[in-house]
Amino acid sequence: MNLSLQIFLSLVLSVIIGLFLGEGSIEFVKLWVAPIGTMFINLIKMMIVPVILCSLIVGMTAMGDMKKLGRIGMKTVAFYLFTTAVAIGIGFAVAGLIHPGIGMALPGEAAPKVKEAPALMQVFVAMIPTNPVMSMAKAEILPIIIFALFIGAGIISVGGTKAKLLINIFDAGAEVCYKVINMIMHLAPIGVFCLLLPVVVQNGPSVLLPLLSVIICMAIGSIIHAVCVYSAISGTIGHMSPIKFFRGMTEAILIAFTTCSSAGTLPVNMKNIQEKLGVKRDIASFILPLGATINMDGTALYMGICSLFIANVYGVALTPDQMILIVLTGTLASIGTAGVPGAGLIMLAMVLQAVQLPMEGLALVAGIDRVLDMFRTTLNITGDAAVAVAIDATEKTVPTELDIHE
Ligand code: ASP
Repeated sequence: MNLSLQIFLSLVLSVIIGLFLGEGSIEFVKLWVAPIGTMFINLIKMMIVPVILCSLIVGMTAMGDMKKLGRIGMKTVAFYLFTTAVAIGIGFAVAGLIHPGIGMALPGEAAPKVKEAPALMQVFVAMIPTNPVMSMAKAEILPIIIFALFIGAGIISVGGTKAKLLINIFDAGAEVCYKVINMIMHLAPIGVFCLLLPVVVQNGPSVLLPLLSVIICMAIGSIIHAVCVYSAISGTIGHMSPIKFFRGMTEAILIAFTTCSSAGTLPVNMKNIQEKLGVKRDIASFILPLGATINMDGTALYMGICSLFIANVYGVALTPDQMILIVLTGTLASIGTAGVPGAGLIMLAMVLQAVQLPMEGLALVAGIDRVLDMFRTTLNITGDAAVAVAIDATEKTVPTELDIHE
């Protein structure tokens, strides 16, 4: 049985067993099952910093010259911003049709304490590491990316045999990282089961029911965005059939769905798009780490749906101005969202604040956030892969030095 099927079966099994066990077994499941899931996540996390550092440097140096690097960088960021804004629009459209939250009783409980979202300029300042080693120790992804980008640019500028030595070291490091990730992936069926069981046991159908409309919106919105936007990007620009694209992404999608972490799924996504979708390593190593950090279409979609849901619950009619503001702040907030579970909920506070919607609405969403997170993380990583496929294809049409001289 192949690995994707094993992972999928363990997912189905966890739902069946979770519903069968019910809430009564939550203590037992938390004590004995959840830690095994955490161990699996930790194994994946263990690889994040080394894989980002090695593969990003290798990816940059493989581009060979600064011109190519600048060209790909601009294209990537343009794609990322466009798909993110479209995602929020789709969120509005779906929530506008389904009207989640209308007629729902307001919650008696207080809103959860939410960490204040950082100001935009602060996000930029924090991106520059004052001490790269400390950033690596704390697994701060954005500063590590910036550091790797500078080191990569430095290696390209030095050139010659000195640069070659460093390139070989990082290349070997990346190779070793991929091998280790492969080993870890063989434990995925067990990890996925142990991660999902507590979620099912805790949330069960009775808790999910009242908020089902939000979950349905999220599911429909994710499918529309994936089918329309990603199929279009991979099909028209990437010249790859959507079936091949989504089939190739199965493993990464299942891992994202269960771990709720784009950063955690990065190693698997990296492996998938190279081995199954044929994206060149230099493109994959540059685009995916960047995407896992700044491209969050699923989180953006969630911001659109949740802000409309909260507006409905509190009987607020959003004006077109407020909607535009949600698209703008939602896009920025999704860029600043860390690729870890639950990060989107914190950033939602920033959007609610910008359009002056009641913060208490967060309490409603918080209860089902883990389920929503599964959809948004899946979309987040699929978006990165679609853009990588598209850029890989456009780069094949760029004339090489050799073509130019011919
Ligand atoms: N969990 C999401 C991710 O890792 C981020 C979010 O919470 O929206 O991509």
